[in-house]
Amino acid sequence: MPFGPPPSSERTLRAPAAHLADLAPYDPKYLPARVLLSANESPWGLTESVRACVLAALADREFNRYPDPLAADLRAQIATYCGVRAEQVLIGNGGDELIFDLLLAWGTGGRRLLIAPPSFGSYEIFARLTDTEVIEVARRADKSVDEQTLLARLGEGDIDLLMLASPNNPTGECLSCDFVERLLAASDAPVLLDQAYLEFADPVYDASPLLARHDNLVLLRTFSKAFGLAGIRLGYLLANPAVIHELVKVRQPYSVDSFSTLIGSAVLADLDALDERVATTRLERERVAGELARLPDARVYPSEANFLLVSFPGAAVIWQRLYEDHGVLVRDFSHSPGLEGCLRISIGTPEENDLLLEAMRKVVEAPV
Ligand code: PMP
Repeated sequence: MPFGPPPSSERTLRAPAAHLADLAPYDPKYLPARVLLSANESPWGLTESVRACVLAALADREFNRYPDPLAADLRAQIATYCGVRAEQVLIGNGGDELIFDLLLAWGTGGRRLLIAPPSFGSYEIFARLTDTEVIEVARRADKSVDEQTLLARLGEGDIDLLMLASPNNPTGECLSCDFVERLLAASDAPVLLDQAYLEFADPVYDASPLLARHDNLVLLRTFSKAFGLAGIRLGYLLANPAVIHELVKVRQPYSVDSFSTLIGSAVLADLDALDERVATTRLERERVAGELARLPDARVYPSEANFLLVSFPGAAVIWQRLYEDHGVLVRDFSHSPGLEGCLRISIGTPEENDLLLEAMRKVVEAPV
């Protein structure tokens, strides 16, 4: 046969970009379970009234048309909800996309991202994907940020972008707005303060008032946690319009579909359930923390989020027995740097938390 490709066994695949060589695909470590407490999701779905609203709005949607790239209506709604101007809001396909976009705009080509691990793993993965150099200032043994070292490193002037989470995932604690303001003043680099879990935190940690004074502040928020919409992939950031102008250049124009926009709008228009759900989660967080702290040799780190970081001797075995013997899935970080011996446990409904605590007592009291 004179033309056509040779049989595949004779061909090798051209190598992809060199910086992918050592990179493993993101693994959320999801497994089917009776009690899902591993991904910091909300345990509650749409309320009946929001569901009815979504279904009614769906009937009028023109699915043959592309969505409005910046979703003007939802953008205005988010601006009102957050007390900022619409030009300060940008929506994304989950917070993840916005983190990626920031790296496309302020990273790439060996430019430098500063992070404080252990923190949300996507910062580093997306930095490597975009060929951005990662500079780390590790947290202390108690998991708090080493403020002086971080400020000093930023002050050297060669950092292009900083990413910090507050509340931090997976450690749970927040940064004071005072410290955030010192960071903002120490450099002209954009500072992404990732507040995906802000709704669960004490309101003193809301850094949005700083937007008026600091052009380099970027706040990340999401519908995936307190709003209970992890399935639709909708996040947003709040920043100065000059930052948003750059991000609009790199973002996928249609990354947020009409369906997600519609559901986000419906949830924001009917916030009745939000406060009650957040209040329950906060109360449950303190209850579960108190109960876990009574287990022998457990250390529970203080949390402002909808999860708890807990260290135990034999954490990996505890994880396995919780899952295999009791169908309770939590997240095992016990082999991750800076998190040795740690499990991260999301706060579920009161009933799910009871099942977790009961399973945990059995596992800890009857070790193999
Ligand atoms: N930031 C932090 C700290 C997170 O934990 C997560 C999700 N686990 C995100 C951002 C991204 O959330 P999403 O893409 O679902 O909006």
